[in-house]
Amino acid sequence: MKKPTRVNHPPTVEVPTGNHPLVAPIYQSVKFEFDTLEETERFLRGERPGFFYSRASNPTTRQLEKLLAELQGREDCLVTASGVGAVAQTLLALTKQGDHVLCFIEMYNPSRYLIRRLLGRFGVSHTMLSIEDSAGIERVLATQPTRLVFFESPTNPVTKIADLAAITRMARAAGALTVLDNTFAGFHQHGEFEIDVFVHSLTKYASGAGDVMGGAAIARAELIRAMRTDFGVLGGTLDPHAAFLILRGLKTYFVRYKAQCAAAARIAQLLQAHPAVARVHYPGLPSHPQHALAARQMQDFGSIVTFDLKGGADAARRCADALQLFALAASLGSTESLAITARMMGGRELSAEQQRASGITEGTIRLSIGLEDPEDLAEDIARALDAAAS
Ligand SMILES: *Cc1c(COP(=O)(O)O)cnc(C)c1O
Repeated sequence: MKKPTRVNHPPTVEVPTGNHPLVAPIYQSVKFEFDTLEETERFLRGERPGFFYSRASNPTTRQLEKLLAELQGREDCLVTASGVGAVAQTLLALTKQGDHVLCFIEMYNPSRYLIRRLLGRFGVSHTMLSIEDSAGIERVLATQPTRLVFFESPTNPVTKIADLAAITRMARAAGALTVLDNTFAGFHQHGEFEIDVFVHSLTKYASGAGDVMGGAAIARAELIRAMRTDFGVLGGTLDPHAAFLILRGLKTYFVRYKAQCAAAARIAQLLQAHPAVARVHYPGLPSHPQHALAARQMQDFGSIVTFDLKGGADAARRCADALQLFALAASLGSTESLAITARMMGGRELSAEQQRASGITEGTIRLSIGLEDPEDLAEDIARALDAAAS
């Protein structure tokens, strides 16, 4: 073998039987081969397990899928290159022309775009209500054949709580699938409710470090089987290296989530006691209008704390500019604390009435609490609130 050939067929190193790495290797390979054509054909006919092409499946991404399915309490999972990828591919895989989708004003902006604009182009209609409008949900599901209900809990950014038992019961009675974007609540919550499909952004709490993007759809085996081919050809595949980083992040997921929740509860109390603050939105606070429902559905209330400043947009600007530890940046759930203002949130395509229902005011600021010392975070917030009040 000449050297130009050798570099393309390097020596292989097999780990001997009975000898294992503690961390699974990254299978950074697009292609996998079988020893014979016969075995290849058996694989392609679905008669033997294996891997062939990483857009369809890869051992590292598969390891992540199996772990996420278990964490969320479902049979199977498909991972994607981003959270929005998981939402888009789930919606495309589960709907067809003529279907109707029930969705909500309190929704991640790109998800709203996907349902209204993208699915709309393919003849899928939608109704958009407020997640607080239980009577409306009941009425729509009773009167309009509905393929799926797409919702979040707690909602972004004002942490409204969806009544999961009520929504799943009504959807089931109407023959509609429920798809819950469970990014805020995390993989260890809501699994006991009869949700058909959980979608997640792995960019947030799963990775934790804010250095990698990913998404997941988690459901019973039959639904994942029905979606698998569409996901493969839509092509938003997660790279094995990204899957490895997310697997690494998940090792500290529970410790991070709980520490971030504890710090968030403390910040929420601090905000509530400050005269510049009109209202604090944190499901763990007894003053949250749905605290009892949140406490029934969740063990941990999340690390997102949103508040409204009495001084509106000007106060929000002073507060945002005075923050030193909190970065003015998108995303959430990572180790560094973040803040975004109403102006940074988008959602401008909502009507004035929908804007009001969304709960976002000119003085709204959403915090994502990280892993810094809570004392330092409290000091930073206190200083920024004083600046907002001045
Ligand atoms: C961030 C986020 C997404 C999108 O995830 P990306 O990984 O950024 O594409 C979807 N839903 C919610 C609730 C999110 O917070």
